[in-house]
Amino acid sequence: MSVMSRRILVTGGAGFLGSHLCERLVAAGHDVLCIDNYFTGRRANVAHLIGHPRFEIMRHDVTFPLYVEVDEIYNLACPASPIHYQHDPVQTTKTSVHGAINMLGLAKRLRAKILQASTSEVYGDPTVHPQTENYWGNVNPIGFRSCYDEGKRCAETLFFDYHRQHRLRIKVARIFNTYGPRMHPQDGRVVSNFIMQALAGAPITIYGDGSQTRSFCFVDDLIEGLIRLMETGDEITGPMNIGNPVEMSIRELAEAVIELTGSRSELVYEPLPHDDPVQRKPDIAFARRALGWEPKVKLKDGLKRTIAYFAALREDLEATGGVGNG
Ligand code: NAD
Ligand code: UDP
Ligand code: UDP
Repeated sequence: MSVMSRRILVTGGAGFLGSHLCERLVAAGHDVLCIDNYFTGRRANVAHLIGHPRFEIMRHDVTFPLYVEVDEIYNLACPASPIHYQHDPVQTTKTSVHGAINMLGLAKRLRAKILQASTSEVYGDPTVHPQTENYWGNVNPIGFRSCYDEGKRCAETLFFDYHRQHRLRIKVARIFNTYGPRMHPQDGRVVSNFIMQALAGAPITIYGDGSQTRSFCFVDDLIEGLIRLMETGDEITGPMNIGNPVEMSIRELAEAVIELTGSRSELVYEPLPHDDPVQRKPDIAFARRALGWEPKVKLKDGLKRTIAYFAALREDLEATGGVGNG
């Protein structure tokens, strides 16, 4: 990492990934401006940074213009879990599309470098496996997941058009399923659901028959990949897959969580959500080559750290009597 301190904007900075990113950037000596509308993010995620001389937080919705002065922008603002992004799907598309336009307009005025947190969802229910960046995807344009998938695809289009039309320095990261401390305990994602259920001794809800696959990346590895991508020269724009290529079935994940928590929870089977991708695994050859990066944290180690986080959170919740948004 360059020793030069920069002013860096992180949108969605109070969310799961955003809070880890802010923390890393502050620790590296940068001035960080975190903006968030707190739709799924929580002030508690960045509470330990508040008061730090190089950290500033502002309530702001990226669908509205933003006039600030920075050198780099990480655009992470967008609900990421299916239940949250489907809660107000029109707002989800606005966040991805209007949010991208505003942040690209800001980057254009400032000649700032800008990174987009895109997603493996741009591949939809993929027919190419593992997914390589040159695969165009298999996406339903009118389904329940489309607000997220198509919003993110349109954001990628905007990034590449601003790059071609206005010579903007862009980086597009296609992030695959990531887990770790500070995931929202009730956002419905599989890792948080399974761990919360296992710790409560409640049934573990497997959607479908649990044979669908995902590849889970621990948050520290993911953040390292994003920062390295931002630091590349202008010739690297992406899109670049950032994720862990170790693929497993959802049933195997449930078994791992049960083993590591020592839970007696039983497995229950519930209907598969609409358009739930059957398989997902990143091909990370490009990231390996261009960033010298690959994930280091093994699933069991990452799950142990995540379980410890949720166990502590449950104790706090029991002490205070509910999930605060503070
Ligand atoms: P998250 O929901 O924890 O974080 C998103 C943050 O954006 C939240 O703090 C939320 O309040 C904020 N936000 C939402 N709409 C906003 C708006 N209009 N204006 C300002 N802030 C807004 O989710 P996350 O897992 O941290 O995801 C961060 C980014 O990474 C998202 O763009 C997501 O699409 C992408 N991503 C995440 C994963 C993953 O597995 N975690 C996978 C693929 C892509
Ligand atoms: N924008 C912003 N901050 C800035 C500059 C622009 O939020 O510092 C927003 C503004 O809302 C604008 C959008 O970015 O509509 C796109 O900007 P661009 O310059 O590409 O287009 P235009 O200003 O012509 O709409
Ligand atoms: N899933 C599950 N039980 C749950 C939550 C999710 O079986 O309680 C499944 C879900 O159907 C999907 C996979 O786990 O096949 C990953 O779901 P998640 O919502 O975490 O992410 P995404 O589908 O966006 O990859």
